[in-house]
Amino acid sequence: MDEALLYQALEFGRPYAERGKVASYIPELSKADWRDLGISVHTIDGQQLHCGQCDRRFTIQSISKVINLAIALEHFGFDAVFHKAKMEPSGAAFNAMSRISDTEDIPFNPLVNSGAIAVVDLLLPLGLEGMLAAARSLCSDNSITLDEVVFQSEWSHSARNHSLAYLLQSKGVITGDVEELLKLYTQLCSLSVNADNLASLGLLLANGGVHPATGRRFLQEEVVRTVVTIMLTCGMYDGSGEFAVRVGLPSKSGVGGGILSVVPGEMGIGVYGPSLDEKGNSIAGQQILKYISRTEKLHIIDRCIR
Ligand code: GLU
Repeated sequence: MDEALLYQALEFGRPYAERGKVASYIPELSKADWRDLGISVHTIDGQQLHCGQCDRRFTIQSISKVINLAIALEHFGFDAVFHKAKMEPSGAAFNAMSRISDTEDIPFNPLVNSGAIAVVDLLLPLGLEGMLAAARSLCSDNSITLDEVVFQSEWSHSARNHSLAYLLQSKGVITGDVEELLKLYTQLCSLSVNADNLASLGLLLANGGVHPATGRRFLQEEVVRTVVTIMLTCGMYDGSGEFAVRVGLPSKSGVGGGILSVVPGEMGIGVYGPSLDEKGNSIAGQQILKYISRTEKLHIIDRCIR
């Protein structure tokens, strides 16, 4: 892998950006430039490759659900987390309400809004300070901060998430203060990151929770196994199945335009492209990842074919 390949991948993905739209249900996100594209790759053997706008800051949005899930598993354990949400793909939109309102059940998984909101119920004692410290450490960047402007914009347009949270409270899934936990959930979606930060996080997951350069363990192996598996099955919302077939890399998207991808045992990838498809996934970002996966034979099932 080299930067020439990343350049080709970016150019392959670029025409797709025109076919999507930047998110507008959070007004501040609609200010992003749909043409922006960047990719960052961090490999286990110490290479750091970049192409395009990989320093451009954007809000992490749903990729925060990966950090939240990992930290909840680390601090509270498997049973506590999966008492809040199942581990099944929902096959529904990221903010769907129907699948939980129809039944007495808990949310489908921790990577859709309902499940992530339920997981944040566990994280309340850590607060913004504790979770910001966790995000900085997992992404190897102490300069990650809260984007207050995006937070205020999302907070004042969060009726849908409020409905989900109060529905979960009525079912007894959420027991903490709903307004407090929604505020924390929204703040965690509003952390300002870049593609490089996502590649760092991906690298840590790709290497079983240990930073390859320092040997320091950040996450337990069992936590990594659980998080990365759920990324593969549920990380791209109702596009997860098709993405798994076409790209075959455990990934998580956010409506800010980021995609975090893990190449198990090899590398972490961070992509930024704010133009989204109808499912809320970066449209060019997915194509860039498809190009890299196909060209470098990184699809996890390619191991069967080799
Ligand atoms: N903060 C967004 C929300 O709760 C996250 C959605 C996403 O990135 O997919 O609606």
